[in-house]
Amino acid sequence: LITQQSQEELNKVLKENRVLKEMNEEEKQKIVVVSISPQARASLAAKYKLTTPEAAKKLTGFFKSIGVHYVFDTTFSRNFSLIESQREFVRRYRAKDIQPGSIPLLTSACPGWICYAEKTHGDYILPYISTVKSPQQVMGSLVKYHLGPLLGKLSNQVYHVTIMPCYDKKLEASRQDFYNDLYSTRDVDCVITSIEVESMLEASGISLADIEPVELDTLLDDGNPTNHFGSGSGGYCEHVFTYAAAELFGEYSTDLTFKTLRNQDFKELTLEKDGAIVLKFAVANGFRNIQNLVQKIKRNKCSYHFVEIMACPSGCLNGGAQIRPEGEESLKDLVARVEKLYKSLKNSKPEENTKIHELYEEWLGGIDTEKTHKLLHTQYHAVEKMSNALNIKW
Ligand code: SF4
Repeated sequence: LITQQSQEELNKVLKENRVLKEMNEEEKQKIVVVSISPQARASLAAKYKLTTPEAAKKLTGFFKSIGVHYVFDTTFSRNFSLIESQREFVRRYRAKDIQPGSIPLLTSACPGWICYAEKTHGDYILPYISTVKSPQQVMGSLVKYHLGPLLGKLSNQVYHVTIMPCYDKKLEASRQDFYNDLYSTRDVDCVITSIEVESMLEASGISLADIEPVELDTLLDDGNPTNHFGSGSGGYCEHVFTYAAAELFGEYSTDLTFKTLRNQDFKELTLEKDGAIVLKFAVANGFRNIQNLVQKIKRNKCSYHFVEIMACPSGCLNGGAQIRPEGEESLKDLVARVEKLYKSLKNSKPEENTKIHELYEEWLGGIDTEKTHKLLHTQYHAVEKMSNALNIKW
């Protein structure tokens, strides 16, 4: 897995492309696409003392200089993940009294958590996990099944690389659910972490700060990176809460002040209506908090309707393959700097993104279609029963 999904593999594909170019056979080249996660970009911005827009352009410049054809930002695909999570939550909330196992809805964007749930909690916990694909895997669908055809290429003629904050994203990309048997290709061919990008830069003897900036590509969006409000792991809790408050209770201006419970990594957010708590959401980061939550669900004692779960303490900004602190700087101070950079961009609301609405119509054939389910949702497998996939449609 590590050699399959590493900078060595990307370098091999780029070398093959160079050879084809020398032989005047450019049409046989694979189209190489790099999608950069905002958490990895913020980490690299902190390392090279760049602003977030500077880091976006310099990373684009670096990847283009080594032969990559297109560079995108996975914030764009996260719009789909957030919208689908909002809709899934509202459907499940409405069904909660008639369909056991509807609530709590647990997020699915962290492969560290998914791996733990599949291995440790078997069939029991999996029905509670959102079927929505993570931003990385939605980007995989967008690149292979929207961008590829747009460029006149089959999915196996496009080589898709993501830049991510942890090694677990390599495991996610290599799941059988994200493999296309027809074309023998994965939706995400290769995952490179923030620290692996740092070593690529070191190997080429150049600092990111010295690279000529190049604008991000605009084939999917307008190429101007924006952010989503909320936590550094994507803001699932805040976005789903705001949407559900409006959709279910007509509350358009909600208080998003979290109450910290046991520790900084376990917080809750509630909505009261007529003296009763009608929405109870939580963010649980780190395995200790996750284990406590899972035990509560197992004992039928969990009072939350929705929980954003991330395996790393402090979430993705502190991912296991983000840039490490140097010199006197503590990890805490570095993560605070990364968070500031991550949050420095203008916020956008996924529901208000016109390009996303166009893609729902033109690419997916509308909302809640079979194609939407196939390309934006996935399934989970209890490890001891891998052949018996839980394929629950919400
Ligand atoms: Fe990866 Fe950690 Fe984020 Fe989970 S929380 S996706 S393990 S960086």
